[in-house]
Amino acid sequence: MNIEEFRQTGYKAIDWICGYFENIEQYPVKSQVRPRDVYDSLGQNPPEYPENFDDIFADFEKKIMPGITHWQSPNFHAYFPANNSFPSIIGELLAAALGAQCMLWETSPAAAELEELVMNWLRGMIGLPSYFTGVIQDTASTATLAAVLSARERYSHFESNGIGLNENKFRIYCSIDAHSSIDKAVRISGIGSNNLVKIKTKDDFTMDVSDLNCNIINDLENGYIPLMVIAAFGTTGTTALDSIPDIAEIAQKYNLWYHIDAALAGSALILPEYRHHLQGVQHADSFVFNPHKWLFTNFDCSAYFVKDAQTLVNTFAITPEYLKTQHDNNVNNYRDWGVPLGRRFRALKLWFVIRSFGIAGLQEKIRLHLALTKEMLAKLQQDGDIEILAPVPLNTICFRYNPAKYIGDLNALNRELLKKINNSGKIYMTHTTLNGIYALRFVVAQTNIEHRHITSAHSAIRLAIRKL
Ligand SMILES: *Cc1c(COP(=O)(O)O)cnc(C)c1O
Repeated sequence: MNIEEFRQTGYKAIDWICGYFENIEQYPVKSQVRPRDVYDSLGQNPPEYPENFDDIFADFEKKIMPGITHWQSPNFHAYFPANNSFPSIIGELLAAALGAQCMLWETSPAAAELEELVMNWLRGMIGLPSYFTGVIQDTASTATLAAVLSARERYSHFESNGIGLNENKFRIYCSIDAHSSIDKAVRISGIGSNNLVKIKTKDDFTMDVSDLNCNIINDLENGYIPLMVIAAFGTTGTTALDSIPDIAEIAQKYNLWYHIDAALAGSALILPEYRHHLQGVQHADSFVFNPHKWLFTNFDCSAYFVKDAQTLVNTFAITPEYLKTQHDNNVNNYRDWGVPLGRRFRALKLWFVIRSFGIAGLQEKIRLHLALTKEMLAKLQQDGDIEILAPVPLNTICFRYNPAKYIGDLNALNRELLKKINNSGKIYMTHTTLNGIYALRFVVAQTNIEHRHITSAHSAIRLAIRKL
């Protein structure tokens, strides 16, 4: 492809993208293909000779698109979102064009300095104190791993990086509803799954902080070293908001590393009316949230904030001769701030998003989503045969169909209901289990969701119920 062909094809691709967004509601939200359908439809061998781009694009439309689940559809209510927006797509496109590898300040000074700037912006926007420092990670999973490793290194005065973990007596605490990325991080960091203590939750699915205290006392009596506590501010099941101040008190009392996982819910903190939740955050050591979930910045872009950047850098920095540069002492070399050496220019799309929405525009979107959630909740409550299974502090409703006098297995009934809803193609939802109860989750967070999508989603659920 030469530059003129690129120009023409590029224009066509943008036109295709516009058509996609105009018609996105025509597709079944959840891809309806079966396992191997896509694989078997594609060529067995890579082409020996160049192919015509029109042919490649035709195959993209014909063979790839049917296997796509439409995460940007306003009828997507599954998992948590992975939103984009037009400014974000343009930022991503330009970053791809520049193709800059932003591991060091010197490898693209603008990337490093823009990252510093937008992370300072975000910190202020969500109300974190100004002594926190931010860095963009690929995902919240990576940020939480960085937090666990930093906790381990701070405790051992950066010795376990060298000598390894010999007699590991560390304990890390999180609630039973905290995210599986923590289970992964304790494995990778050498702390071990057996040393991740899962604290029980209260009726509202937030961490029972008195149980946390009991577990720590018990561990101390048995010779363990309480190392770290992780608050789930917005659990993935129900968006339960662990109490930041209550956990802060325990973290201080036992001198624990305090990490807050606010992957989804962090975005809601741009609303002043949610700020009171941050009371006690000055005692946190690290905090993560994902603009790639609910801040209209396409995957991947995770915002990781630490109180003491030096601890993070000391945990990760390795400087072989070939990576030394002249300015190392007065610039941020972000390769030292996390796991990978190479880094994409993610700050660009975030900058485009924040500037083109403005804080007010972002707040307006999130407020609309919260209002639409309330509307859906009211509809479900009025139905009479729907049981709401958890409080709704944000944008996620957990419920089940529970008709009067039903004597069969409600879990099986609701499993069947979810299948019917998703096979309709009209909306896409997922499930969780809450104390053994199979619960359907309805998440309201799509960039372009409007009032009418709530009405049609409710109809789709009612239709699926009638077909049971
Ligand atoms: C989604 C989620 C994560 C994981 O996010 P990734 O960026 O995909 O790693 C972690 N914690 C919570 C609470 C989440 O909801």
